[in-house]
Formats: sequence, C-alpha cells, structure tokens
Amino acid sequence: MDITYIFLALFIILAFLMAHQESKKRKISFWKAILFCVLLSPIIGFFIISNYPLRNAPGCQWCGNSENEAEYCGICGKNEEGNLRG
Ligand SMILES: [Zn+2]
Repeated sequence: MDITYIFLALFIILAFLMAHQESKKRKISFWKAILFCVLLSPIIGFFIISNYPLRNAPGCQWCGNSENEAEYCGICGKNEEGNLRG
C-alpha cells in the first residue's frame, strides 16, 4: 500500500474527529467544520473553528449578552459579581 494513502486516511480521520468534537462544543455545524478541515488541513481548520463562539458560553447576567466568554462582558464590561474592569 502506498504511504500516500495512509497519510490521506489519517488526515481524513483527524479532520472527522476534530470536526465532530468541535461542532459539539462550538456554534458551527459538523459539515461546515469538516469542510474547513478537509479543504484547509486540520491544523488551519482548527484555528478557524477556534474563532467560533462556544455553545455553552457563560454569558452575562447583567445585560443578557449570551455570547460572552470572557471574564468581563464585552458589552457592559461587568464580571460575574457586577464589578467593572479596573
Ligand atoms: Zn454584559
């Protein structure tokens, strides 16, 4: 068996596993994730997928910004206790 096929098989398995894992965690569909991984290689695909917001982002209880992942909210600037940065 040609070594190229082994690499190609590993490449596809890696892309498949990563797309499956990341599409569960992030707001990206499985097929969109696998498209990035296959077309751009799993490594570049991973960086693109990493930019998608998390599904279970903690959000902000003060202004209702459900996309917030950071310690301080990007919209109202408050943390969990309601304190402003700085
Ligand atoms: Zn907020």
